[in-house]
Amino acid sequence: MSEPIKTDALIIGAGPCGLFAVFELGLLDIKAHLVDILDKIGGQCAELYPEKPIYDIPGIPFVTGQGLCDALMMQIKPFSPAFHLQEMVETVEKIGDPLFRVTTDRGNVFEAKVIVIGAGGGSFQPKRPPIPGIEAYESASVFYSIRQMEAFRGKRILIVGGGDSALDWTLNLAPLASHLTLLHRRSEFRAAPDSVNKMMALVGEGKVDFVLGQVSALQGEGGQIAKAIVKRNDGSNFEIACDALLPFFGLTMKLGPVADWGMEMKDGEYILVDTATFESSVPGIFAIGDINWYPGKLKLILSGFHEGALMAQKAHRYVYPEKRLVFQYTTSSTSLQKKLGVA
Ligand SMILES: Cc1cc2nc3c(=O)[nH]c(=O)nc-3n(C[C@H](O)[C@H](O)[C@H](O)COP(=O)(O)OP(=O)(O)OC[C@H]3O[C@@H](n4cnc5c(N)ncnc54)[C@H](O)[C@@H]3O)c2cc1C
Repeated sequence: MSEPIKTDALIIGAGPCGLFAVFELGLLDIKAHLVDILDKIGGQCAELYPEKPIYDIPGIPFVTGQGLCDALMMQIKPFSPAFHLQEMVETVEKIGDPLFRVTTDRGNVFEAKVIVIGAGGGSFQPKRPPIPGIEAYESASVFYSIRQMEAFRGKRILIVGGGDSALDWTLNLAPLASHLTLLHRRSEFRAAPDSVNKMMALVGEGKVDFVLGQVSALQGEGGQIAKAIVKRNDGSNFEIACDALLPFFGLTMKLGPVADWGMEMKDGEYILVDTATFESSVPGIFAIGDINWYPGKLKLILSGFHEGALMAQKAHRYVYPEKRLVFQYTTSSTSLQKKLGVA
């Protein structure tokens, strides 16, 4: 087991609510580390609708999903939070009063005085394409996300899909691959037009093959794919020899390991919280944002921001049991302004 990373607060999920929690905790001198499964910060806003406008953030008439994440990152900069991306929190265990040990699927171990779960709808999981027997190749030669581009150098790559991920990875991996084919079932794409134009330019230069059709079967041995059988839209079949298949069919959200951490749940899906503190049934574990439930809950970003503010007040009691908390405004408190680097 690796040496534990010690922190006051561990925030599970770097969505908008997890990010704003850094701010509210930071004002109370509570340092935070954040862990997120995704390779980017911002949760649903950055992953599902980065360019869509949000109109109901108080005081901001209009901001895109990505714009909100960027603004939150600027707001929490004074508190220097540490991010651990592409890691899923798997286990949470109480080891003291209050102290928790948290482990991730990458083998990292955290020891935190409080835990703030801002895990939204749970973990984003790739949609598996309907190819018989694909499970046998997963993680060996079929990948739904890319952690290290270098692993694909010199390989024959088959990318399937027509969204941003499929096109982005086509553009990024084309220079590394010995041969790259992009397969999509139709000639219209959901991806950004600029990416489509760049991909078409590579096709024109003979650096990428673009094929219309769908993978109907895979052939290979011991998890190593050798070829994909592709069904053209006219019903005929042909083969594409490949070393790696990268299907990008979008993401779904599943609760994942959150359900096993011993908290009282609502309908097996949401963490029940006390609305005065947003603490779960396990003292020291809080839940904010889309993952929690209480009577009247609205899955809105502004609700998660409010929840983070109240959560921090109670978290302070665990992190600094000997200190009295004095309520202060950022407009008038020099002490808060010093923490924000503006006084
Ligand atoms: C298309 C669309 C439009 C929307 N428009 C609006 C709007 O206009 N206004 C509004 O207020 N809301 C809107 N919402 C809802 C809003 O995006 C959510 O309320 C908000 O994202 C919830 O934030 P969160 O931080 O709780 O969770 P999320 O944004 O879901 O982030 C949770 C994060 O936790 C991570 N995670 C989960 N489990 C683990 C684990 N075990 N280990 C590590 N990380 C984990 C996930 O990877 C994810 O990044 C919209 C949602 C969608 C899909």
